[in-house]
This record gives sequence, structure tokens and C-alpha cells, in this order.
Amino acid sequence: MQKFSTVIVSNRLPVKVEKKDGKLNYIQSDGGLPTALASLDATDRVWIGWPGIANDDLTDEDRADITKELESRGCYPVFLSNDDVQLFYEGYANDTLWPLFHYFQSYMINRDEYWRSYSSVNRAYRDATTKFAKPDARIWIHDYHLMLLPGMVRAKLPQSVIGYFHHIPFPSYEVFRLLPERKELLEGLLGADLIGFHIYDYARHFLSSCLRLLGLTDDHGSVHVDGRMVSVDSFPISIDYGRFVSMRESPDAIAQHESLLETYQGQKIIFSEDRLDYSKGIPERLEGYRRFLEDNPDYLGQVVLIMVVSPSRTGVETYQQLQLQIEQLVSRINGEFGTAEWMPIVYQFQTLTLEEIVPMFMAADAMLVTPRRDGMNLVAKEYVVSKGDIPGVLILSEMAGAIDELPEALAVNPNDTLAIARALRQSFTMSKKEQIERLHAMQKRIKDHPVKRWGTDFMSELEKVHERQTEEAILDLKNEQLELLVDRFNHAKERVIMLDYDGTLQTFKSSTAPSAAAPSATLRKLIASLAGLPHTRLCIISGRSKDALDSWFGDTDAQLIAEHGAWTKRHGEWHKRNIDFEPAREAIQPILDDYTSRTPGSTIEHKDFASVWHYRNVPVDLALVRAYNLRHELRSVVDSDIAVHSGNKIIEVKPSSVTKQVAVEAILGEYDADFVLAAGDDYTDEGMFEAAPHDAYTIKVGLGETAASYRVAGVASMLKVLQRIVEADARK
Ligand SMILES: [Mg+2]
Repeated sequence: MQKFSTVIVSNRLPVKVEKKDGKLNYIQSDGGLPTALASLDATDRVWIGWPGIANDDLTDEDRADITKELESRGCYPVFLSNDDVQLFYEGYANDTLWPLFHYFQSYMINRDEYWRSYSSVNRAYRDATTKFAKPDARIWIHDYHLMLLPGMVRAKLPQSVIGYFHHIPFPSYEVFRLLPERKELLEGLLGADLIGFHIYDYARHFLSSCLRLLGLTDDHGSVHVDGRMVSVDSFPISIDYGRFVSMRESPDAIAQHESLLETYQGQKIIFSEDRLDYSKGIPERLEGYRRFLEDNPDYLGQVVLIMVVSPSRTGVETYQQLQLQIEQLVSRINGEFGTAEWMPIVYQFQTLTLEEIVPMFMAADAMLVTPRRDGMNLVAKEYVVSKGDIPGVLILSEMAGAIDELPEALAVNPNDTLAIARALRQSFTMSKKEQIERLHAMQKRIKDHPVKRWGTDFMSELEKVHERQTEEAILDLKNEQLELLVDRFNHAKERVIMLDYDGTLQTFKSSTAPSAAAPSATLRKLIASLAGLPHTRLCIISGRSKDALDSWFGDTDAQLIAEHGAWTKRHGEWHKRNIDFEPAREAIQPILDDYTSRTPGSTIEHKDFASVWHYRNVPVDLALVRAYNLRHELRSVVDSDIAVHSGNKIIEVKPSSVTKQVAVEAILGEYDADFVLAAGDDYTDEGMFEAAPHDAYTIKVGLGETAASYRVAGVASMLKVLQRIVEADARK
């Protein structure tokens, strides 16, 4: 079986298979995605997807024929049954995700069998992908049909580099969270290394959902997941500029354009073209036109709206109702304003070819593109390019992704029928010169970012993300380095191991009560074993209180250092540093009380030498604002010998002379160690790394900048390192 270096996965293949009179026909698509990806090197590439025909209609022989024919076109089919098409495609993808992601939540249908089918079809795509991808392949997954697939592929091919592009809007958190399966979908997407959207607003919504639903913090457009960086960015898709230029210049187009001008002589032509869908705002657009006719009687008989709607999902009731609503509106307006000589609206419910549409673009004095929500909208760009030097005005919805790139269009709120009416009037009164200037500015922008660049831009960004990940991975503690570490440990005469607790030996818990963070029996046993090794000092250096550490590890040989070094336990006795924190505590107490009472979910923890404000359970946006202001207020009331620190969902106020660095220096001064290991996860541990001798093993747990010489992905990996040391010693 041949394996490929580049794998494209989308719900539909660029080739559609039909069966007529027992004979298979193959129809090559010239849609946006195949054009966009045509520029990517095709020699070592396979495209995986559904060929558009249900499995139930095929014999074994058909399937073999299809597979063979598609293989010759660089494709591999995923066969879907009629049930899959109904429940996965028509169901979860188009009746659950599509309406919600376009903010039509009342149209969203939630059914268990939709979700089950969506999961199982995503698994079928996973199996096909892993079958053809080399272990380190570049895999580019497309769109909302396959949101679980990045995570599924990651689990099977951890070395692969995965990109995902979302071709429809990603809604704000407030809307996205209505989905029962919201977490599973986010986790699925986060299997990718790069997640792309058309515009940055969608990326922002995705990042905010990751933060609120999974607690993952946005770090300049990327999030850290299980020790891996996932990058999120915008890549606006475009059209094939050159193709529209040659179409508008073809003799056929020029002839049809002239014939249209002849037919509608003396009338301003308004053009509108969409697929039948509630997201397109067609009834609102008709209302806007009606309003225009009502408010501008001087234009009666002088204007025509040519509205082309191409049939889509006509078997679905919502779509049937929409079709009926549009037809009724058209008849009403034609009846209300039309005369024997003049019909205000020419309505066509049919799919036209681009060759038929381009001349209409050319003839249109105004183009109404007013979707209520649209991921990008390419019709707007097609109109602009088809115009060439012919005057015309694009009226574009603020809710279309394309608005960011086409600011010279007349922007309208698609729900505001008065605004649509006014924009129509404005386009008819705008000077030809201004119309051309606006068109040319937009044409230049589209020409500079043609669709072929979109594909290569995304793939080159995917490589860059992978390079950044590789750079971060340089610090990763590799197996052979771990073996060397164990070897040095075994041969050392005096050994010192210094470990932070939270985030290093124990994962963060949602409850801020100290008891929630108590070590498991396994962890206590591990610490006891390490501390019990001969010629080994094991220190736990934590910001926790001495009572907490004592209750967890008091019965082991571990040396305990509490509150970042304010307390040290030696020979069974706790010793404290000679510092008075009480005046500072009194000064800050009223501020902490005030913030805690105003910020539901926050708590105050009193340690002997510190006060800590915990905000792990405060809603993120509120937490950001309150934490920022609280830090500022605290700093204004304490002296310079008191430090206000931000930690992992905490703000801690403590004497600035109490640091892990000072504690570590004291320990290293006491013992003449020839093996030192220090491990920690946050900024307080950086001091520990800096104080360690240069040949020490300093280990950062998790991602982020560090002075440590090695890195492990998380708590589980850290525990494995310690376990390995104990086992090696046990074998001696
Ligand atoms: Mg920590």
C-alpha cells in the first residue's frame, strides 16, 4: 500500500460519482476547494472524501471500479450509507452545526443518533486517513463535517502535522456553548497543530470557547494542550482571479452582457444570486427592495431586481418553507408595484453556470449580497472581478466574512431593510468615477491574494507552526537523556532532589480547599521511596502551608519547605524565618475582603507569611478584570519589602525576601551534593533553577519560557522520571 506525505481530507471529494442506468459517471468539480488546492504539489498527495453516492446504491464491483478510477485521479473514497448521509451529513452537520454556527439556534436539531453517526463517520475518515498517511505526513482536514477528525488522527499518528480549516463561521461562545457536544468538538479540533478560519473574529470566538469551556488560555493566538502548542489564525479564502478575468473578456460573455442591456434598456439592474438557505437573508433583501420602491417612486419602472436562487436541500421542511416565503414575497411585490409593461422582480429558481452568471454580474448596476451570516461569501468577490472597468456598486452585508477585505463596498446590516433601500438609492446616485475607483481598489486586493495563494499560505504556516513546536521540543527530556540522568544519579555520592508540589507532582484542582490537592497513596509512596534512598536528600519546596505539607509528607524522610521557604522542617521541627508579615496583612485585608465579596467564586487563603487570593472558580472575563485591578490596588498599599505575585489563578502577597531561590541556596550550602535535580512548573520555580549549579538537572514541567535545561510535558511525565529513578535504584 502506497503511503503519502500530504493528505487532504474533506467531506466531499473533488470528483462526484453518479450511477445512471447501471453505468458509473465521474464528474470533476471546479469548486473553490479543488481550485485552491490545485497549486499544492500533487505528486505525493492523496485526497480522501466521500464520492457523493450512497453505498447502498453500489455493488462490490462498483466500489472496486470507483476506487480504481479515483486512485488514478489522486483520490480515495470513504463510502457512506444512506443512513450515514441522513444522520451525519443532513443530520448533525447540516441540521445541528450549520444553523447554530450561523446563529439560527431555533433551527438547530439535537438528536442522539445524529451525534452517534457523526462520531462513527469521523472514525471512518480516520481509518482512511491513517491507511494512506505516512507517520510524519502533513494532513489537511476541511470543515465542520470533520471536527472530531484532527483529534482522532492525532491519537493514531502522533508524529503527523495536522491542519484544520473551518469554512463556515465559528459562533461566539454564548452561542457555541448551547451545543451538547461542545467540549468533544473543541477537543477534536485541538488535535490539529494549526486551526484556520476565514477572519480573525471566528478565531477569536474559537479561542474564547477554548478558554471558557476547557480553561485553555489564549497565548497570542495559540493554546497549549497536553504540552503541545496549537496555533489559531485567519486565512481568508478567495476566488480564481484570472479565471473571472478571462470569462468577462470572452466573446460569449460580452455578447450576453449586451443582450441583457438591451432587454433591460432604460432600467437600472440589481442582481442577487444565492443558494437557497436561511443564512442568506433573501426575504429581508426582498423587503429592502420593496422599501426602496415605496420610498423612491421616481424609480418605478426604471429598475429591475434579477434574483437567482439555486435549489438546495429542497427535501427539508425548513427549506421548503423558505422557498415558499420567497415566492410569496416576490409575487406580492410584483403585484403591488408592477404594471402591464414593467415587472419589478425577475425571479429564477434554478442553478446557473458561471458562464451564465458572469454576464449578469457585468450588467448589474448594483449587486445585493446581504447574507444574515456568511463564513466568507465568494459571490461578492466574483462580482467585483467580473466588473472589470464597467461601473457598478457592491452592497455587502456586515455579517459576511468578505466585508473585512472589501471595505469599499456599501456595507449594510442585512436585517435593516431601510439601510438596504438607502444603499440602493446611494448606488444609483454615486458617480461613475467613484464606482470605478471603489471597484478597482477591491479588484487589486483580490488580485494580490488569489485563491491559489490561500492553499500555499496555509501549508507554509503549518510548516512554521511545526518548526516552532520542534524548537520548543529541543528542551524535551529524551529517553537517552533520562537514562544518563539515572546513571549519574546512581554513581553520585550525595544526591539532592528538590521538587515543587502543585503543577509538578500534583495537577491543579478546581476546588481551592487544600484537602482537594492531597497526594494519592501512590504519590506518597513514590515520595517516601525517593526520600528513603541512601545518600539522598529529597526536598519538597512549595508555596503550601506547613500544616498541609506536614499532613501529606510528614511521615516520610522528605525535607519539607513550606510557604516558598518561610518555613523549613529539620529533624522533625519546623523553623521559621525571622520576618513579620502581620503589618502587611492588616494593610491588605480590607482590599482582599472587598474584592472577595464582589467576585463570586473567589476565596482568600491565609498562610503564616502570605495572603493568597484564589480566582480559579471565577468566570474568566470577570477574573481578568478583577485580578488586574486587585494587583494594582495591593501594590499601592504595600511597602517594597512585600511582593505581589500572580500565579496560577492566584494573586499572592508575601515578603519579597522569601523565595524558593533563597531556600535552594540554603539547602545546597548545607550538603556537598554531586547530583542535583530541581523540578517545577511556574515562575516561582525559575529562581530555584537559577540557584542550582550549572551541571544540575533542572526540569520545567509544561510549556512556557524557562531557565531550566530540560522540559517534560506535564505532571504525569514528571512522575515517570521520578519512578524511573526509584526503579533503577531498586535494581542495584
Ligand atoms: Mg507549582
